[in-house]
Amino acid sequence: MSDLARPERPRGPATLGIHGNDHQKVPGEPVVPPIVQSATFHWATPDDGELLYGRHGNNPNIVMVGRKIAALEGTEDAVALSSGMGGIAMAFLALVEAGDHIVASSHLYGATQVLLTDELPRRGVETTFVSPEALDAWREAVRPNTRVFHIELPTNPTLRFFDPRPITALARLHGITVTCDATFASPVNFRSIDAGIDVVIHSATKYLGGHSDLIAGAVAGSHELVAEVTRLSRLYGPALDPNSAWLLDRGIRTLDVRVARHNANAEAIAEWFEKREEVSATLYPGLTSHPDHEIASELMRGFGGMVSIVLKGGAEAADRFMAALSVALAAPSLGGVETLVSQPRHTSHASLSIEQRHALGIPDGFVRISVGIENVEDLIADFEQALEALDS
Ligand SMILES: *Cc1c(COP(=O)(O)O)cnc(C)c1O
Repeated sequence: MSDLARPERPRGPATLGIHGNDHQKVPGEPVVPPIVQSATFHWATPDDGELLYGRHGNNPNIVMVGRKIAALEGTEDAVALSSGMGGIAMAFLALVEAGDHIVASSHLYGATQVLLTDELPRRGVETTFVSPEALDAWREAVRPNTRVFHIELPTNPTLRFFDPRPITALARLHGITVTCDATFASPVNFRSIDAGIDVVIHSATKYLGGHSDLIAGAVAGSHELVAEVTRLSRLYGPALDPNSAWLLDRGIRTLDVRVARHNANAEAIAEWFEKREEVSATLYPGLTSHPDHEIASELMRGFGGMVSIVLKGGAEAADRFMAALSVALAAPSLGGVETLVSQPRHTSHASLSIEQRHALGIPDGFVRISVGIENVEDLIADFEQALEALDS
């Protein structure tokens, strides 16, 4: 799209989610783009333009949703892929080669952690993990061959929100690229590039899709980075299928209103849990008791839809609490319209010992809640009866 076609004033996230930055008005065009369920497209010679093929990521549905994600993130470009892990893996492969080094936050999504710890070393890429709070540790971890700093905001499942700006400033000094998995924030609550982050990665399975009905990922950044991710995707194969791309676009149209409701519901629920005697800790960046409340207030436009609690009764109480729920559903994953509840000791952190989980701030009794957009009174009533079931 030429610069001339850009709207004169920057659009807000609700408008971008619906229209992106495009404003083509062609008589007879459908208001809702059709699903172009075709693997291949007529093409005879290079005179016919770009060769379109599903795996190349240039199916119209994939291109359209990528542009919309770039508009939301404020990046030059973005590409949607077949999963969040596809996005993370392709971004790392685009940025490092054998002999390179990554410094990563010690608070990471489980599969990302395994990718960096077990998988990339087999390809000649080493990672040093450091606490995202300890700037000195990041400085000390930098080597001449460090290419990437990788962080996650907010973190799973303790919902920490660290100030990324000291890390991005340090990266600038050394010519290091900063990648951020901002899945938990969504572009509505936190725009990574405003904090100096170069590459934003999403599991679009979560808030971007928003309905727990698709698996997708996205990588947003410079034209150059997105072109390299796209080139690698043509070789490794994690292209998104047109139907999921269409569903993702459909989900993004309501991202802004969904996230506003997730934020409001989560805030009310966190405040409610904080007063309950069965609960020893309630973790939500919007609570003044949260260690990162101040920085989250400064950098986040909303505190998100994720709330974690620790039940005094430990593992047994958590199992009983989950079994007693009737509106909220026990299931892994997050970011959908429905409230989902899970225990990290059974899901993301199942491979760790109790001691290791304790060290990460995840004692037994820890319950993670992806607060949905139901009526908050119904959710609170459900949580109340489930807490009361613990006494019986
Ligand atoms: C779910 C998730 C992923 C992985 O995404 P998939 O779409 O399941 O591949 C990565 N990072 C975070 C923070 C997630 O929540």
